[in-house]
Amino acid sequence: MSRLFVESTMHETPSVSSTAVAQGTQATVRVEHLYRVIETHSEKKCIVDDVTFTIPAQSLFAINGPSGSGKSTILNLLTGIDRPTSGQILFEGEPLRAKSENALAQWRGHHVGIVFQFFQLIPTLTALENVLLALELGGGDGLARRQWRERAYSCLEVVGIHDLAKRLPDQLSGGQQQRVAIARALANNPPVIIADEPTGNLDSHSAQQVFELLASLTQQGKTVIYVTHDPQLAAQATARIELLDGHIADHTNADAIVTIERVPTEALRIPTGGLR
Ligand code: ADP
Ligand code: MG
Repeated sequence: MSRLFVESTMHETPSVSSTAVAQGTQATVRVEHLYRVIETHSEKKCIVDDVTFTIPAQSLFAINGPSGSGKSTILNLLTGIDRPTSGQILFEGEPLRAKSENALAQWRGHHVGIVFQFFQLIPTLTALENVLLALELGGGDGLARRQWRERAYSCLEVVGIHDLAKRLPDQLSGGQQQRVAIARALANNPPVIIADEPTGNLDSHSAQQVFELLASLTQQGKTVIYVTHDPQLAAQATARIELLDGHIADHTNADAIVTIERVPTEALRIPTGGLR
């Protein structure tokens, strides 16, 4: 987006009305026998190994597991940023694999909003401008350009920081920056929000608030998929898969195929008196 466009839209504060974020369309994601193999000069490594699961529409869906278990890789496959070695992802019944790079980028703009651990706001743009940029890049959800500013404000209002619309990211706290990032993810009114460790860089109080905000989006019709290595955050999901070494080790409400046995923590404990 040109600087000119942003500035030319910065003059009045519109009311939140016709461009308010509408109820999202129902979205279900089905992942079938997904594999991602990484080849280096010395080895082939299967980092996603026969993963099958369903993300119910409007669920608060957790992908959890220890560091290195394949959580981010699966998110990148779900957003089409990365491509599977084999298997498929059906998004509302439609296979992602069929799309060209261009079509995939366009599809992503309309269907998923992405939230990152380190916010990734543009430091030289205000909160409002960061959201406007997402509208520019994502196609604007069919709105006329003159309605974008109103939509951007309404997204900042949803996350509770429209008062801070004119601040630059470095004038905001971590929790506030992540709220802007969530507003940006909502800009094009996608049915699915995908967040990779969204609270991983926040203090515990802000983390809880940001998590509650993400969870509340399911009540507006969104499907919220989040990655976490925090079992307490994972436990708050309405559906969930747990990964271990690229396999599904456990799930709740995810119609998943468990391909590796999860060793209960209890069994790892050394019995009193030690090992014989
Ligand atoms: P998580 O998000 O659960 O921490 P990742 O999905 O980032 O895990 O990574 C899963 C595994 O795959 C890790 O062992 C990581 O080192 C490896 N991996 C991820 N991407 C690549 C890559 N491009 N090349 C080589 N190894 C990779
Ligand atoms: Mg990760």
